[in-house]
Amino acid sequence: MPRGVPKVFALMNQKGGVGKSTTAVNLAAALARLGKRVLLIDLDPQAHATLHLGVAVEGDGSTPTVYDALLEPNTADVVPAGENLWLLPSETDLAGVEAELAQAEGRHHRLRLAIEAICRARPIDVVLIDCPPSLGLLTLNGLAAADEVVIPMQAHFLALHGVGKLLETVRLVAQQVRPSLKVAGVVLCMYDQQASHTQEVVGDIEAFFAEARDRGVPWQRARVLWPPIRRNIKLAEAPSFGQSIFEYAPQAAGARDYAALARHFLALLDPSAPASIPTPAEPVDVDALDADEPDTPEIVTHPPVQQQPTP
Ligand code: ADP
Ligand code: MG
Repeated sequence: MPRGVPKVFALMNQKGGVGKSTTAVNLAAALARLGKRVLLIDLDPQAHATLHLGVAVEGDGSTPTVYDALLEPNTADVVPAGENLWLLPSETDLAGVEAELAQAEGRHHRLRLAIEAICRARPIDVVLIDCPPSLGLLTLNGLAAADEVVIPMQAHFLALHGVGKLLETVRLVAQQVRPSLKVAGVVLCMYDQQASHTQEVVGDIEAFFAEARDRGVPWQRARVLWPPIRRNIKLAEAPSFGQSIFEYAPQAAGARDYAALARHFLALLDPSAPASIPTPAEPVDVDALDADEPDTPEIVTHPPVQQQPTP
């Protein structure tokens, strides 16, 4: 990362409800509190990150939005959202932008150009992009602007379904649009240490990434990023107050977890630091991997311990 050029992370998972927006907002706030100048981009028409930060988008068009930024990247602007924190807000019109840009020239690179324009006007160290729950043109713009992909997910068997498709999308973007694109890893959200399958799922994800170490794929250095974010009701309450967890409940477990995750993220921001952020040693169960795998395999998981009998 040359001096003055921000490191850009896309928080991506085509599943909804996995913790993308919660992680985008609270990780952005935590990094800002550590003194990093952070830009959060709300790329989801549902505007959850925008609402979470309590930013109101005026109906008269006076608030800059990501919709404007995609249509006119060179004049993109942002809204201040706290000390060291800026937001490129979303709005519902954004849902129409995929159709509007479908035939446009350079339609995959709009967001990257907008970030460049924004960062010419003010120094930014890190950009977090809250992607929508789809693999459409908006998410492709997010990936084409990103250095690293972060995958929020739950340590749950069904949550892993679809990750192969997600990684295949990342690989295609890396091949065709953004050669430097890498997958930093997975953030485990709504983590429940007590659940019997949790450790197995974590082991399966670690084993999947370990198997890719020398395969030349964008996820070859990916890890389970540490710590997992525990299930914490304060994290679910904070958005309705338009506050990050650090304003709403600074003593809560959710604040401690996101603060710790942000400290580990500093290693990803420092080009001289080791490529991966540290994770505690996990038992790696290589036998769990399918021997006869397709090019981009699904993460293979142990079956749930007990199936409920169907009535
Ligand atoms: P996504 O952006 O992937 O759709 P969200 O971040 O909006 O997911 O999270 C989905 C729901 O789960 C939201 O209601 C959010 O408040 C809640 N949530 C997210 N993380 C946690 C957590 N660690 N503990 C409790 N609730 C959480
Ligand atoms: Mg969201």
